[in-house]
Amino acid sequence: MKTVRPRHTGFCFGVRDALQLTADALRPGEQTVALGQVVHNARALEELERKGLGRTDQLPDAGGPQVVITAHGATPQLFQEALGRGLAVVDTTCPLVRRVQRHATELAEAGLPVTVVGDAAHAEVRAVVGWASERPGSEVVVVATEAEADQLPWREQRGVVSQSTFPQPRFQQIVSRLRLRSGSVEVRDTTCPVVNQRQREAVGGLLDEADVVYALRMQHERMSENWVPSLREYATWYQINGRRLGSRQVLMHPGPVNRGVELSGEVVDSPQAVITAQVEAGVVVRMAVLYELLAGARESQPDPDRPEIVKQLA
Ligand code: SF4
Repeated sequence: MKTVRPRHTGFCFGVRDALQLTADALRPGEQTVALGQVVHNARALEELERKGLGRTDQLPDAGGPQVVITAHGATPQLFQEALGRGLAVVDTTCPLVRRVQRHATELAEAGLPVTVVGDAAHAEVRAVVGWASERPGSEVVVVATEAEADQLPWREQRGVVSQSTFPQPRFQQIVSRLRLRSGSVEVRDTTCPVVNQRQREAVGGLLDEADVVYALRMQHERMSENWVPSLREYATWYQINGRRLGSRQVLMHPGPVNRGVELSGEVVDSPQAVITAQVEAGVVVRMAVLYELLAGARESQPDPDRPEIVKQLA
């Protein structure tokens, strides 16, 4: 069996650099806090916390600890406020996020109403709105769906940027709707090329190579943070559905399935899915493993290589 893995996995360069800058800024005996979560990865976070990194959602008072701005960036107002309070700031904003901020600022300074395509609750988008709002009288709105774009008032001219991690195909769809609400549109496609490549690779070429597609359950109920913008976005980017699953591929999943999230209902119910059989077999296999570990161990001769825990269970 050959397992096909994406060529590009792990942290993107923006997060990797942010982690390095944060780690370099930590000094024994000196307090450092991150304004928000520096990385959506529990192990990497624990490592930084072990070295002394704290977390806050508010800018500390004057005389407070050194502050890390995450890769998502922050508003210019926040940087000014930190300066005013005399706080030391470690800015780890990703250069590609800065690019979004720069384009939004340019469009606003050119006098265009600015539309940011993205999740209004996301830290990056809040910061971009802050940058685009610097110019007095500027008009900045955020839309995440075609329906929201359809609600915008008519404008003779409009400037558009995207949240870096917004799916590029959806960005283009929303832009086409914005064109119907505007005389002319200046589009700055600020979607992140790293994310675009990974999304194309994950649900495009890579899937085509597989005979068997093994999907995993999206355990969103265990997430303490919004690690994906929303389940709707997750489904848009990664869901295995009739469009993405080849007609001869076998579909596996350990169950229970989140219908409409990692798998669409149509593929779960299709003859290609062997999920029910897989779950049934899983029970038998687990029982066999337990038997081997417990009863099997009792019946067999003592085995010095058997791990201590198994010997205790037996
Ligand atoms: S913009 Fe792209 S490279 Fe930068 S942090 Fe976000 S995903 Fe990573």
